[in-house]
Amino acid sequence: MKVHIDPQLCQGHGRCYDLVPDLFGEDEEGYATLTPLTEGGQVPPGREAGARLAAANCPESAISVTEES
Ligand code: SF4
Repeated sequence: MKVHIDPQLCQGHGRCYDLVPDLFGEDEEGYATLTPLTEGGQVPPGREAGARLAAANCPESAISVTEES
């Protein structure tokens, strides 16, 4: 699974990194970032639910997840 944060949409509410702090971080202004675990947009095996949870709870729909075939 791949995860992407759209920096144009992110408003820094922080729900993603509050919910799943190992998959999502924050920059110095509170906008979401990926973390070492999601570096390059790759969701670690077994953590798909966490990525989906963050995407579902982002009020700006800034997080997208893509299933890989
Ligand atoms: S929940 Fe969405 S808007 Fe809020 S910091 Fe995360 S990506 Fe940005």
